[in-house]
Amino acid sequence: MAVDPLIELRDVNKYFGELHVLQDVNLTVGRGEVVVVIGPSGSGKSTLCRAINRLEPIHSGSITLDGQPLPEEGKALAKLRSEVGMVFQSFNLFAHKTVLQNISLGQVKVRRRKKHEADRRSRELLDRVGLADQADKFPAQLSGGQQQRVAIARALAMDPKALLFDEPTSALDPEMINEVLEVMQQLAQEGMTMVVVTHEMGFARSAANRVVFMADGRIVEDRTPEEFFTAPRSDRAKDFLSKIL
Ligand code: ADP
Ligand code: MG
Repeated sequence: MAVDPLIELRDVNKYFGELHVLQDVNLTVGRGEVVVVIGPSGSGKSTLCRAINRLEPIHSGSITLDGQPLPEEGKALAKLRSEVGMVFQSFNLFAHKTVLQNISLGQVKVRRRKKHEADRRSRELLDRVGLADQADKFPAQLSGGQQQRVAIARALAMDPKALLFDEPTSALDPEMINEVLEVMQQLAQEGMTMVVVTHEMGFARSAANRVVFMADGRIVEDRTPEEFFTAPRSDRAKDFLSKIL
C-alpha cells in the first residue's frame, strides 16, 4: 500500500546523559494510519511520542510533519502542539476549570475562536465522546474513564492532524478501559492519524494498521498486527508477548 506520509522520523537519536534512549529510529506514519507502539518499560516509547510533539528535543536525525521539519520554538511550536495532540496516562486536565472550559480554552487561545464558537464545538465533541451531560462538572467529579474522554475531546477540539496517545488506559480501573478504547476505535475508523502506546493488545489487533515493537531505544519490529502477533521475528518480541498475552 502506498502511504501518504504525515509523520516521518529519520535516523533519530536522543540521549539522556549517557543513556541512548532513541537509537537510529526510522518511522513513517501515513495519513489516516494507526500505529500501535509496544515494548517493555523503559524502551523509549514515551520519549518517542514526546519527540514527535517536540516535548523532547532530539540530538540528531530529523522529524517532519507534512514534510516540514518540526518548529523549535515560539508560535510555530504552539501550533505544532495543537496540530499533533497528545493524550497522556494521567489525563492532565485543569482541575479548577469545568469540563467545558477545559475543552474550549485552547480553541480560544491557540485557534483564536470566539468563546461561543469554541463552546459550541466543545459541546459537539462532548456529545461525540458520550459526555454531553457533564459539561459543567469539574474533572474531580468525573470517573477516570470520563476524564480521559474529556482529554480526548480537548485534543480533538484543536482539529489535529494527528493524535498521540501515551498509555491512555494504563491509569484506569479495568471497567473503564473499554469506554476509552471505544472512542479511540471510533476515531481510527473515521481516519484519524494516530500513534498509540498501549498494552491493550485487543486494540492493537483490531485498530492498528501497524505494530511497532521497541526495545532498548530501537524499533525492533514494524509490521502488521497479523504478522506481529502470529509470528514475531525477534526474541525480544517473543519474550515480551509471552509475558503479556
Ligand atoms: P517507556 O515509555 O518505553 O517506558 P521512556 O521513553 O519513558 O520509556 O524512557 C526510556 C528511558 O529513558 C528509561 O530508561 C527512562 O528512565 C529514561 N528517561 C526518560 N525520561 C528521562 C528524563 N527526563 N531524564 C533522564 N532519563 C529519562
Ligand atoms: Mg512510557
